[in-house]
Amino acid sequence: MVRAILWAGACFATGVLLAGAMKADGVSERARKLHFSSIVVDTHDDTTQRFLDGKFDLGVRSSSGSIDIPRMREGGLGAIFFSIWMPSKITGPEAVDRALIQIDAVREQVRKHSKDLVLATTAAEIRDAHKQGKIAALLGVEGGHMINSDLGVLRSFAALGVRYMTLTHSGNDEWADSSTDKAVHNGLTDFGKDVIREMNRLGVMVDISHVSDKTFYDALETSKAPLIASHSSCRAICDAPRNMTDQMMKDLAGKGGVVQINYHVGFLSQEFRDAEKTNPELNKAISAEVMKRCADNEGCQLIEGDRITREYVEQGNLPRVEFSKIIEHIDHAMKVAGIDHVGLGSDFDGANMPYGMEDATKIPKITEVLLQKGYSEGDVKKILGENTLRVMTEVERVSRELNAGK
Ligand SMILES: [Zn+2]
Repeated sequence: MVRAILWAGACFATGVLLAGAMKADGVSERARKLHFSSIVVDTHDDTTQRFLDGKFDLGVRSSSGSIDIPRMREGGLGAIFFSIWMPSKITGPEAVDRALIQIDAVREQVRKHSKDLVLATTAAEIRDAHKQGKIAALLGVEGGHMINSDLGVLRSFAALGVRYMTLTHSGNDEWADSSTDKAVHNGLTDFGKDVIREMNRLGVMVDISHVSDKTFYDALETSKAPLIASHSSCRAICDAPRNMTDQMMKDLAGKGGVVQINYHVGFLSQEFRDAEKTNPELNKAISAEVMKRCADNEGCQLIEGDRITREYVEQGNLPRVEFSKIIEHIDHAMKVAGIDHVGLGSDFDGANMPYGMEDATKIPKITEVLLQKGYSEGDVKKILGENTLRVMTEVERVSRELNAGK
């Protein structure tokens, strides 16, 4: 109630609309109309890990985590990239096997929930899904370690529907340096550049979230298609090595790419990051508690990590980060890279969410606040999904040209 009154006050102040049109969740009718007629794309969700123990049903509203079909519907999420992920230390044939199991798990969820979900591999298929009132499900492989240095594996992933690959996760792989590991390849190796060329031919988007700055520039130089950062934020606001500098965002935009803002509090807030750094015992305690609750169940670890971090915030041990921080990053990226080069890559179900963005139902608030800040409806649509759809279309065009031998 208090929040509804505050929001209504803010709207009167900016003269956007009458308070009577504002619902209790703080989202005006104008924002709601715009949001639910837009194609909202989220390029990074770790919900896949929850599919693996066979207990989680995507079709049922869950009291934990951030993503399920009812909540995606409520938040107007139109297209979601399910991340295929495992830690960088898992390599070789085991990494390939585990990636295939996860790809199958996503495809099975889509099959089981075909009334609500449809597997999409192109921008046009996302638009079709939207027209049919379905949520488009897409696949992104988060880490080049999963191809086991084999372009044949990359081609197989693409054939199964994978439409982006993040070149590394938090550790280096055999052919690319990560931003959170000691550089050993000076960016991309020659084979790493071959991987980029093959991704271009296959129409698999090159994702530079997580990679070192040098890997980013090598990929930018090598790729014939625009790049994406599927879930990265702004280093100028929060100095995390896997966030993008202003110059990187400008250069990404210069070649038509898009940076998808990540909602993780440790990438949004310098204050949160500093608090974690000055008290490393907290992270150790959180990790120990996660292991106690989850053992080796990675889906559980991701969800409980978020929950336990929230408990530490409630106890005053870590700073509280509000969802307005997401808007701050969107705003900054927009000013630096331009309105055509910013989108959303939440990291839901794989990270620690700020207050006010606990799950997919809260996404319309982004639309509301962007409108309040004076963004035009067309600009908001771009951020919500049209920029990503443009990049996908361009990646598809480059793929067709390369396959035609042009
Ligand atoms: Zn990630």
